[in-house]
Amino acid sequence: MMMTATPAETDIVIAGGGIAGLAAAAAFSHLGLRCLCVDPEPPVTERDATGADLRSTAFLQPSRNLLARIGLWDRLAPHASALQVMRIVDAGGATPAPRLTRDFDAAEIGDHPFGWNLPNWLLRREFVAALAERTEVDHRTGVAVSDVLPRAEEAVVSLSDGTQIRARMVVAADGRNSTVRQRAGIGVRTTRYAQKALAFAVTHDTPHDNVSTEIHRSGGPFTLVPLPDHDGKPCSAVVWMEHGPEAHRLMALSDASFSAAATARSGALYGPLTLASRRTLWPIISQIADRFDAPRTALMAEAAHVVPPIGAQGLNMSLADLTVLLDLAEADPDGLGTAPMLAAYHRARRPDVAARIAGVDLLNRASMLEPRPLRDLRRAGLAALYGISPLRRRLMQMGLGAKG
Ligand SMILES: Cc1cc2nc3c(=O)[nH]c(=O)nc-3n(C[C@H](O)[C@H](O)[C@H](O)COP(=O)(O)OP(=O)(O)OC[C@H]3O[C@@H](n4cnc5c(N)ncnc54)[C@H](O)[C@@H]3O)c2cc1C
Repeated sequence: MMMTATPAETDIVIAGGGIAGLAAAAAFSHLGLRCLCVDPEPPVTERDATGADLRSTAFLQPSRNLLARIGLWDRLAPHASALQVMRIVDAGGATPAPRLTRDFDAAEIGDHPFGWNLPNWLLRREFVAALAERTEVDHRTGVAVSDVLPRAEEAVVSLSDGTQIRARMVVAADGRNSTVRQRAGIGVRTTRYAQKALAFAVTHDTPHDNVSTEIHRSGGPFTLVPLPDHDGKPCSAVVWMEHGPEAHRLMALSDASFSAAATARSGALYGPLTLASRRTLWPIISQIADRFDAPRTALMAEAAHVVPPIGAQGLNMSLADLTVLLDLAEADPDGLGTAPMLAAYHRARRPDVAARIAGVDLLNRASMLEPRPLRDLRRAGLAALYGISPLRRRLMQMGLGAKG
């Protein structure tokens, strides 16, 4: 076995300081492991600043458990909106009026809400503040990982500022175009949907009562997720998925015309919607890496998988990746970054991720259906999916990430 003369300079290099990378730094440092987290972009931590991430994340129960375990939940809880009811509305008739509504109450399957929603810019602010208090974490911005050279006992990580650092494990959380994944020669399977998602916040007169509402018509779902009040009015985060050209047309509208279009698309379920943030536009793809492990390296979050924003799966799958890595590191601290540990991670995560990507793909294709008979079929499909009790229970449990 090859031996190194000196111990690795750090335990883990985390490529990427997005929400997933920051969460990874918090998780591993909680175990007492030394982490270097690098990102070329400084995090934007103000709601109205240029480049702010105006998406929100609905953390499902297992994610909340992880955030509590790594000491982050207490600082997030005061900013979270509980999601008690999920409402699915089909508005696929000739006019965008609701014609079929199904409610799923979290009380049917347990004592907790389905999830807790927080704006992404606020998550970055709180994560960065928490990491600043941890001596095990070195959080550097303005610098990228440019290469990883695995050796028997460690990896030599090259940074874009010309420095090199030796680590026992590299965590690739550097997003959907991951440099670390490419340098490791790991391929991806990508599906493009010719859709885009508009993400923004709205205020409305009718309170949301902690109901998350998904309205289906064509082009993709229009989803309102509760946020805390804004300027004294009920407020929701919206993800509006549309075919590309229509999404670009909507982006170009004046604020007033856009608010009117959003109100019409929502079937006015919460009264008139008023745009309460900038609008951001996101391409929609599904993507999965062929492997989630490489020598001395674990791929996680969007470096490993991307899904359309339906059913709040994206970041929740990323935190499930992190939970497995954390469990493995805790069970065998000496095995950090070894081939058996990383292979166990790949085996535990890839099949679950592949199943969820297939499920979300199905829901997305059903919600894009355009021609009338197909839309009616979708209505029947939604009724069947959400109306039949055992299946509905299973779907709700899958949403919660429960096993079996
Ligand atoms: C509209 C929309 C709504 C969504 N809603 C939800 C939801 O409700 N619930 C949910 O669970 N998920 C949701 N998602 C998914 C979720 O937002 C993403 O999974 C998550 O933001 C991706 O985080 P990430 O850290 O993996 O990637 P990113 O945020 O892309 O972070 C990657 C980081 O890596 C950095 N980087 C790039 N290259 C390098 C390099 N070479 N070295 C170092 N750093 C590098 C980048 O600068 C970036 O900061 C949604 C997605 C969309 C599009």
